[in-house]
Amino acid sequence: MNSYLDKFNDSIKNTIFFKLPPESQEFIKEKSMLLKFSFSEIKQIVDITRDLEMWNEQSIMEIFPQHDQKKVVFTRLKKAYEDLRSKPNSYENFELKNIPKEQKYTFKTADKEGFGLGLCPVASEKTRCCNLLTLDAVESCGFDCSYCSIQSFYNQNTITFDSGFKDKLLNLQLDQNKTYHIGTGQASDSLMFGNREGVLDALFEFARTNPNVILEFKTKSDNIKYFLENDVPKNILCTWSMNTTTIIENEEHLAASLDKRIRSARKVADKGVKVGFHFHPIVEYDGYLQEYKEVYDRLINEFALDEVALVSFGTLTFIKPVIKKLRDREFRSKITQMPLEDASGKSSYPDSTKVEMFKHAYESFAPWHGKVFFYLCMEEHHMWAKTFGYQYSTNNDFERAMLSSYANKLDMQYLI
Ligand code: SF4
Repeated sequence: MNSYLDKFNDSIKNTIFFKLPPESQEFIKEKSMLLKFSFSEIKQIVDITRDLEMWNEQSIMEIFPQHDQKKVVFTRLKKAYEDLRSKPNSYENFELKNIPKEQKYTFKTADKEGFGLGLCPVASEKTRCCNLLTLDAVESCGFDCSYCSIQSFYNQNTITFDSGFKDKLLNLQLDQNKTYHIGTGQASDSLMFGNREGVLDALFEFARTNPNVILEFKTKSDNIKYFLENDVPKNILCTWSMNTTTIIENEEHLAASLDKRIRSARKVADKGVKVGFHFHPIVEYDGYLQEYKEVYDRLINEFALDEVALVSFGTLTFIKPVIKKLRDREFRSKITQMPLEDASGKSSYPDSTKVEMFKHAYESFAPWHGKVFFYLCMEEHHMWAKTFGYQYSTNNDFERAMLSSYANKLDMQYLI
C-alpha cells in the first residue's frame, strides 16, 4: 500500500479539493506524490488554486514553480500567490462565472424566539463605533454581495419573517427620555421585500409611537413603493449603500444599479424624507479613486445639503468564515484579491490604502463638511484622525455627535 497516497487522500478530505476543476485536482495530486507535501501544504495549495480560479487569474499549473526540492517549490509558490494577491486589482478582463441571474429563495414565516434588537453585530471596542442598535425585521437577504458576512450567518435560500414581529415591536418598552438610533439593514435589506408580512406597516407605526427613535432603513434596492405611497414619520431616515458601477456589476449581484439607487433616493428626498449614503465597502482596484469621485460628485450635484443626514465610509474586512464560504462557492470574485493585514482580529487592507481611500472620499465631499454628518464605520480609532483630522475619544462621544446631528437634521429634540 502506498502510504503517502493514503496520507494525501486523508489530507484532502476536509478541503475544497473536489470542488476544483478535474485538471487542477490531477495536477495537485501528481505534484504532491512527487514532492511529498505535508497536510498543511496540501491544504494551502488547494486554497491557492481556488483563489486563482475565483480571481480569474492564471491557474495553479501556470504559476507552479519548476524545481525538485519541495521547500523551494512551496516557498516560490506562496510568493507568486502573494504577488498576485497584492498586485493592484483590475476588473478589465474579469469574466464573471456562476453568478445568480435571478433571486432564488423561499419565504418562511415562523414564530421566532426572542426579538432581534441588539447592538450592531460588528461593533467592537477595538474600533470607533456608533453604538447603533440593529433590528432584525427579516432574516437573510435576497441580494448576493460577494463580500457580505450575512451569508456566513444565514441560509441564503430562505428569507425568514417573524410572525410575532409586529407585536414584539409595538410592545417594546423604551426610555421616552432618551434618543435611540435603530437600524434595520444589518440582517437583511430594509426595503427589498417591501411591506411583506406587514413589516413596514409595523416599523412605521413603531416610529410614530416612538418619536424619540431615529429609525434608519438601509438598502441597496429601488423598492421605495411603500415610502412613496405612505406618510413617512419625520424620525425615519432612508439610506443607500453606494458603490461604483464596477463593483456593483461585479460584486453586488442582484442589487439595484447605481442609477436606480440614486434615483430612488432622489424620489424619497423629494417627499421630504432625509436620506443618507454609505460607501461601505470602498474597494481598491485600477482607477478606483476616479470612479468613486464621479459618484461622490453626482451626489453633491443631485442632493441639497439639508436633504442629507449622513455619509459614511468603510471598507472590506473579512472574518475567516466568510473567506471559507467564498472559496466554497464556485463563482468568480476579485473581492479577496487584496493585500490582507490584521485589523482588530479581522483581515483588511493595509492602513496606507485605507488612508488613501478614506481621505480621498472625505475631501471629495468638502462642500458638505460641517453640514452633513460624516463617519467611518468599523474602523480603528487612529484611522479617524488620519481621515478627518479629528477623532472621538469614546464610542459614546461618537454616538452623541451622530445622534445630535441627525436629530437636528430631522428637526427632532435630542434627548441624552
Ligand atoms: S460604526 Fe459601524 S460597525 Fe460600528 S456600531 Fe456603528 S454601524 Fe456598527
